Amino acid sequence: MSTAVNSSKPQPILLIHGGAWAMPDDAVAAHERGIAAALAAGWSALSRGGTAVDAVEAAVTIMEDDDTFDAGRGSFLTRDGRVQLDALLMNGADLRTGGVACVERLRNPIQAARLVLEKSPHVYFVGTGAERFATQHGMRLIDNTELIVPRERNRLMAFQRAEAAGHPDTTFSGGDPTSVLGSATPDTTFSGGDPTSVLGSATPDTTFSGNSEFTTPVISTDPERSRFEGDGLQPVHSAPKATGALAPEGALAQTALEAEALRTLPDELRIEDPTLHSHDTVGAVALDQYGNLAAGTSTGGTLSKAPGRVGDSSLIGCGCYADNLSAAVSLTGWGEPIMKLVLGKWAVDRVAAGATPQDAASEAIAYLYNRLGGHGGIILLGPDGQIGIAHNTPRMAWGIATATGHQQGITRNP
Ligand code: ASP
Repeated sequence: MSTAVNSSKPQPILLIHGGAWAMPDDAVAAHERGIAAALAAGWSALSRGGTAVDAVEAAVTIMEDDDTFDAGRGSFLTRDGRVQLDALLMNGADLRTGGVACVERLRNPIQAARLVLEKSPHVYFVGTGAERFATQHGMRLIDNTELIVPRERNRLMAFQRAEAAGHPDTTFSGGDPTSVLGSATPDTTFSGGDPTSVLGSATPDTTFSGNSEFTTPVISTDPERSRFEGDGLQPVHSAPKATGALAPEGALAQTALEAEALRTLPDELRIEDPTLHSHDTVGAVALDQYGNLAAGTSTGGTLSKAPGRVGDSSLIGCGCYADNLSAAVSLTGWGEPIMKLVLGKWAVDRVAAGATPQDAASEAIAYLYNRLGGHGGIILLGPDGQIGIAHNTPRMAWGIATATGHQQGITRNP
């Protein structure tokens, strides 16, 4: 799709996402509010003459502070109940980049990433080294508990209960053909496939059948909700069912005690399949009036991840990349397949080779699925202001700000 305006001076534009997953209906309003606030902050930076880097940092900061999203406070917890955050920020003008991973005591990792980008000859810091670098440059350390919200403690408990009850976490199996083909319980973390199949039946694995499913949102001015269209390819998985698919009493519970514990969970946490829970990594790409691109991605990673695990989001060329000579990109979704395909760089290279950002976005999601059975979402922005958005998850939250107004949507697969 094209938002470019005929003018020699670049028209600033900001494009953001707030995750791609099987978002239930009752989470939509919070995402819409969060996206709107992030658009406002990022656009305010751009319209005041700020750089693309300023706008991306501002938009991502707002989403890190909003505990709706899996970034900053409110993120998923690691297996041992802590928050570990990853973020990357990249300047397409000069390719300067800053990344941090596995930080536990920084409220806004995207701001630490900015410090790395600007003040270090290095590109990437992890763990306590990243925290030390951030404090040396003025950031305050907080206690990890300040990043934890009760909702996530409950979510982790429910997930681990389900795991202990014999429902394996196959989050990381999809990238390995042998393990996927050997599993009777395909990972539907980002697909929103039939939850009942995950909970027990031996649904045939169609991961490598060569089919593809992805959605290309069509930006509309419909104030209620933007439209979207499928691409006409046959979906491999059943229609998304996570919305309102609450666990029947006892579906996850093995004992009366567990059933009682489940009853205490809020509705949004009682989705049948715990692996369908939130994947709200956030990201932004921007083009400023000076003609420069930037991209940023920030995440708490995946639910119950092993401590020290790093996903695609903060890895250069995987979940984030920006180059004025190609495009700016941010991804969300199941991190391991995205990393293996270096998908962000794959997508911007297609733009450099002449594809429109929309075609490159759609092709990237198709490639993710066809090659590794992965699920996720992508936003792409070319140096001429053309944008692309695609995802093969049940829903994806996104927003666009230009001089002519702001638009947002929670795109839903048909
Ligand atoms: N890509 C992120 C990760 O794997 C998760 C997400 O996008 O929600 O860490």
